[in-house]
Amino acid sequence: MISEKVQRIGASPTLKISAKAKAMKAEGIDVVDLSVGEPDFPTPENIKEAGIKAIRDNFTKYTESDGILALRKAIAKRLKDDYGVEYAPKQIIVSAGAKASLFHLVQALVDEGEEVIIPAPYWVTYPECVALAKGKPVIVPTREEDGFLLTPEALKASISPATKAIILNNPSNPTGGAYTRDQLLALAEVIKGEDVYVIADEIYASLVYDNFKFTSFAALGEEVKKKTIIVNGVSKSYSMTGWRIGFAAGPAEVIDGMSKIQSHTTSNACSIAQKASLEAYDGPQYDVQKMVSEFQRRRNYCLMRLAAVPGMSCFKPHGAFYLFPNVRSFYDKEAGGAKIRNSYGMAYYLLKEARVAIVPGDAFGADDYIRLSYATSMANLEKSMDRIVEALGKLKTAKTVKRVALSNAVTRVKKAVPVETGLDARMRDALAAEMEAHLGYEGRYEWNARVGGAVLQLRTNVAHLNDFWIENFPPAPGEADVRPHGVLYGVDGIAGREPRGFYHEATQTGVLVNTDLYGSLRSLALGLAMDISMRSGAAGSAGAVRGMSADIDGHGLILVGPPGTKKTELFFELLADPRFKLHANDVVFVEIAGGRAAADRVERKLYMPTTAVELDARLAPLFDRSKCENVVVHKDDCRDLDCQRADDCRLDRGSPYCYKAAKEAHALLDPAWLGGPAAAVRRTNLKWLVLLRNDATSPAVVELGKDEALRTLEAGETAGARQALTAGKAQPYYNPHLLGAAADKLEAQKAFFGRLLDTTRCLLFNSGVAGAAKLKDLVAGGR
Ligand code: PMP
Repeated sequence: MISEKVQRIGASPTLKISAKAKAMKAEGIDVVDLSVGEPDFPTPENIKEAGIKAIRDNFTKYTESDGILALRKAIAKRLKDDYGVEYAPKQIIVSAGAKASLFHLVQALVDEGEEVIIPAPYWVTYPECVALAKGKPVIVPTREEDGFLLTPEALKASISPATKAIILNNPSNPTGGAYTRDQLLALAEVIKGEDVYVIADEIYASLVYDNFKFTSFAALGEEVKKKTIIVNGVSKSYSMTGWRIGFAAGPAEVIDGMSKIQSHTTSNACSIAQKASLEAYDGPQYDVQKMVSEFQRRRNYCLMRLAAVPGMSCFKPHGAFYLFPNVRSFYDKEAGGAKIRNSYGMAYYLLKEARVAIVPGDAFGADDYIRLSYATSMANLEKSMDRIVEALGKLKTAKTVKRVALSNAVTRVKKAVPVETGLDARMRDALAAEMEAHLGYEGRYEWNARVGGAVLQLRTNVAHLNDFWIENFPPAPGEADVRPHGVLYGVDGIAGREPRGFYHEATQTGVLVNTDLYGSLRSLALGLAMDISMRSGAAGSAGAVRGMSADIDGHGLILVGPPGTKKTELFFELLADPRFKLHANDVVFVEIAGGRAAADRVERKLYMPTTAVELDARLAPLFDRSKCENVVVHKDDCRDLDCQRADDCRLDRGSPYCYKAAKEAHALLDPAWLGGPAAAVRRTNLKWLVLLRNDATSPAVVELGKDEALRTLEAGETAGARQALTAGKAQPYYNPHLLGAAADKLEAQKAFFGRLLDTTRCLLFNSGVAGAAKLKDLVAGGR
């Protein structure tokens, strides 16, 4: 499994949207891409010539790690001429793009746990860059009324003893907001008394409009300059994004630190691009001015068009090439039955309905907004504005106003379908082609989720499956950056086919035909991810355990057993004790290393049978706020003949739900809701593997040796369990998510559980004679 710090970060959402737009274009759909983050102008001729000359002169070898001296001198001169700040060449480092400078800078400054203040909306890379350095991003929201600028008050309030740096992006991506000299001085005043650095990302410095006077943070005086590191580059100002040249300028000590890192990472920025950049900084600057005036014209045009859209408001930015309109008033409206709930929904709607690609504001930490880039031709802007205006005009206030927030999908298929695992490659290809043909483009949903260490892509035409998928598992990088490890089809409405699942192991393809039950999709996804995780790493070092898990004092406990062994009852009794923290309710993914079995909850929200309301009174109101599947909401639909409340049915009394009636009903529960975020953990080190049985005669607890535990697990039947309860239900390793029990897979399971048993203690617990109190005594030392 990849490292936790990398699992936690997301890939650039801008790239993801652009990739979608490109894919649509490849299908012949006329999409206008307003998601791009680079000028659409060609690199000026004189700069290109300088690059070509560098090649002819054989300037194609390693250069000084910090960049060629001539370029650093040219940068120093430009900083002095344009912004009035003086730097010696040794205070400047040239890197492969401003992005590389920023990464090396943050690595050089930040130690584990140190805080970096990032005003929101922020450029997507900042928080990830800090997280990768194991620092803590401290996001400080700004307000549209303040021009999306950080106020001195907000800055002051967010500085703590752990603060190491502040990232100030001026002008800003995504808002275009820019700070006046006075506004910067007020921030500098706050920083003066503090031991913090300012990372001044000024990459858009030359792209300012309306005669706005750009001020560099380093130009605010010697004291401020000592704490400031300017990050800039040629990408935006000279339309040179692909050449990959950026730089940092700051105190020699910091630049030295960056230099050490750079010498071990990229060595130096491309020699040819350095020569071209020398020409960019040294040569004539009129191309920059031409670009600026064209951008200003386009910005004004788009602002004018957006201002005419009822419900839309857009801040007028002074810099960069983005607009950041507020689209909040369109949320909860719908077109064609599909409701827009957030900026992702808006991005999706505009892509499909208006064929315009924009970036959802949530990517920048501001979900009420979207980002449009006007770095495209006027003709494209006219076309896209027409289309956006038309598409937004189609959005209508949603008619259905529900009294309660219960969101329930009633599925056509109620029972999990069988999954065939013996496909060969030809059948797999035919099946995938059939699914693709049936999905088409309209009504198709696609979403990458992270399931354990694997990235799985769902392709479906069932809105409910997509909805649950997005909530159930955390999002994963888009296909622009990684190919998913596995693909899952959930295709409904194919005439003549039985509801059925298929799995082709070699290509990690899962297919569900004609079922809209999320439980089936989830189970297939988990099986696929288990296969992927078992294959990564050393044999037996990774795997999954199916059971209900909790953490007590940093030790993990997992309850494993067949139905009828009171697993759920015991689990909720444990959770009622505040010493036990909720981990997962169905399955955990485990990595064994260094004598520890680290178990991860892979689900963002837990897929939980709603009948659990009987076991924990806290659940019903939480389910009211959760997405549900197959909850009974009309008494006529109730098939629960045994229900004790036949004469006193809560549905009769006006309650909108009954969570108890349907055995196949599930809710997606946010684990943090059950007792607050501190009462749940995402990872625990497994210490106790508790196998359950339920009979009247066996001893309450027996500690199993490794061999016996393995035998029991392999058989999937608890020794001494009442046959009636387990008859027909025995599954190897108690795991119904395992896809296909081929011999090699069972061997791998055995190797994994063997290693797991080396690091955990295995108890065989008889729930027929002992209860949660006994179990607590065992694992919590009787406290
Ligand atoms: N900073 C900001 C705010 C940006 O928007 C970008 C590019 N999107 C960069 C830095 C990185 O630029 P470069 O191409 O030099 O890596």
